[in-house]
Amino acid sequence: MDSRKKITIMSPCYNEERSLDKLYQEVKDLMNSDLIASRYDWELLLVNDGSRDNSLEKMRELRNADDHVCFVNLSRNFGKENAMLAGFDYATGDCVIVMDADLQHPVSVIPEMIGFWEDGYDDVYGKRRVRGTETWLRKKLCLTFYSLLQKTTRIEILQNVGDFRLLDRRCVESLRALRETQRYTKGLYCWIGYKKKELLYDQADRQEGKSSFNYIGLLNLAIDGITGFTTSPLRISSVMGFIVSLAAFVYLVITLTKTILYGEPVQGYPTLICVILFLGGCQLIAIGIIGEYVGRIFNETKNRPVYIIDSYNDEKKL
Ligand code: UDP
Ligand code: MG
Repeated sequence: MDSRKKITIMSPCYNEERSLDKLYQEVKDLMNSDLIASRYDWELLLVNDGSRDNSLEKMRELRNADDHVCFVNLSRNFGKENAMLAGFDYATGDCVIVMDADLQHPVSVIPEMIGFWEDGYDDVYGKRRVRGTETWLRKKLCLTFYSLLQKTTRIEILQNVGDFRLLDRRCVESLRALRETQRYTKGLYCWIGYKKKELLYDQADRQEGKSSFNYIGLLNLAIDGITGFTTSPLRISSVMGFIVSLAAFVYLVITLTKTILYGEPVQGYPTLICVILFLGGCQLIAIGIIGEYVGRIFNETKNRPVYIIDSYNDEKKL
């Protein structure tokens, strides 16, 4: 009876040619260590997310040398969130460990993750003890975003928790069932539920290349996160509209009464312009918020696949 379990280590890769060797080496050393090799089979699944450098050739090279390495080649750059779904679709393990290809996630905590998995946890997530050398502004903005998101949604969104985690097959199957195109995977992990376990780790700095998420990228992710998980901005804009209308009505009564009692010498240009501009601004914001949701509806109703596969281990896919 073969009861050996298989572990998939999955990394989305975008322009990571310089990190892949190191990543493979570290993963291989760990998986071949006595403790793990005696009990588990493994694969390293690399998802090439339309890299513009030689990442694909590198992956091919690694696979030629060791068929523990598998790679999925997407037809273009679909973004990390979508690339991860491709990884979940092609992973064959009993559990999947998601880690960045840039070695910011320490391989050394993986045995501990596996230990918790064996103890019956379905989702062992890494929580950053420190956020590494990010700029002050980026840290601040991330924290503000997390607390904003948490306040507006009913499910618990974990702070300082990234994509570094071990997922049981059950979680992977659940995530595969969620095929929305504007993905905010960090929220989806929480949404699916299951038994979770936190594991603290120190995030290293990126060793090679540079981060592909700038402020605009993070802002987009933040908007996807909020609009994907809560409709409370719509509620807030209705409530704001109601409050402003009420104030306007009170002001209207006051103005009318004053005019009837004392007459009205024409004046009031400043008041008028202030009110018009203020209300105009409120309306534009509210329309913008509605637009965000309409845009999401538009994108989801097209029902396009989340990604397109060019090849899996160099076998062409339709
Ligand atoms: N990544 C990807 N597609 C993209 C951008 C990034 O697959 O369009 C991968 C990247 O190769 C890395 C991970 O996502 O493995 C995290 O990216 P990065 O290190 O640039 O982000 P950061 O760590 O700064 O959040
Ligand atoms: Mg990184």
